Amino acid sequence: MQVTEHVHAIKIPFSLTTESGIVVERFVYSYIICGKNVCLVDCGVASSEDVIFDYMKKTGRDPQDISLIVQTHSHADHIGSTPAIKELTGCEVAAHGDAVGWIEHPDIQLRERPIPNFNTLTGGPVKVDRVLEDGDVFDLGEGMSLQVIHTPGHSKGSISLLLSPDNVLFSGDAIPLVGDIPIYDDVTEVLSSLRKLRDISDMKVLLSSWDDPIEGEGTYKAIDEGIEYVKKVHEAVQKFSSVSWEKVLEEIGLEGIPVNPLVVRTFEAHLKVNEDIS
Ligand SMILES: [Zn+2]
Repeated sequence: MQVTEHVHAIKIPFSLTTESGIVVERFVYSYIICGKNVCLVDCGVASSEDVIFDYMKKTGRDPQDISLIVQTHSHADHIGSTPAIKELTGCEVAAHGDAVGWIEHPDIQLRERPIPNFNTLTGGPVKVDRVLEDGDVFDLGEGMSLQVIHTPGHSKGSISLLLSPDNVLFSGDAIPLVGDIPIYDDVTEVLSSLRKLRDISDMKVLLSSWDDPIEGEGTYKAIDEGIEYVKKVHEAVQKFSSVSWEKVLEEIGLEGIPVNPLVVRTFEAHLKVNEDIS
């Protein structure tokens, strides 16, 4: 789907099967920024290169035009087809310094953050060519630039990216989505990252990896809702962690959603918070 003059969104569905055999349907977005060359923001799960290349051909772009992949973070559903796309196009791969370890060594990621179906989501290790930090800017040509904003919390190397002059924000998984399971490692960091994104002026389009494109005032509303959601989860964990994780899920409006390792990791992160986050 074309979102702006230069940006296209590709929704990539995938499924997870939990240890108890429950199949969870999810999706992740990959984004294409078209200038003289093509920049991808994340690459979806393993084998998504076929979907991405087919889309590009249909819109009149040669997949060989891909010169850069910027990873919003290291998680398997964002880096799955990166090795294949790099191999097929010779493009550069860029990611925040804190994300490099898990991108170049998915085996370490699996050990440190076990999730169902990890090995079917990731396409294996890939070398990061350009190590990013907050404030770095890519010149994408044709007057376009892409600014790196370090937004840790979901994971330590999570970044968001601001495309100028279109004022499009790619937020990866930085903004928790109300009604979906909350997934982050550090509560204080996720909140300060959300406030950092809230301060961006004149944002026109918000492109999250786990939500459909949002335009106009809705962009700021989504961030505000994310902040409120984190606070709601915090309250629920404080109140009901001693009862059960199921009860915490019910309290945040996710009754009946099976407890999985990702959401337990988030709830445990809330138990580590000492300060008042209200
Ligand atoms: Zn993620």
